[in-house]
Amino acid sequence: MTYEKNPNAIQPEIKAAWVGGPDRLWSAVRCSGASSPQQNGGFAGSYVCHGCQVPVAGVYRVKAGPQAQERWLCAACRHETRPQSVKPGKRKP
Ligand SMILES: [Zn+2]
Repeated sequence: MTYEKNPNAIQPEIKAAWVGGPDRLWSAVRCSGASSPQQNGGFAGSYVCHGCQVPVAGVYRVKAGPQAQERWLCAACRHETRPQSVKPGKRKP
């Protein structure tokens, strides 16, 4: 027996939580991907990273420079955008 996707399953869309804010999964009706009710209507789920576009538990506000646009990144993407001040690799004692 093969697993069939429920055709009635609701796929949440990705929507900014507020202007300039992080993206979140959002749905007009409660579904598994978006279950927390919002004041302005609908239901929100996980935050979505601006870098890898993957729903994550939390995102961080990242600004590359004073004129740069703010982005909301997961821990892994935020780490990649950080300037490397120390060289990678282990030093022998
Ligand atoms: Zn990411």
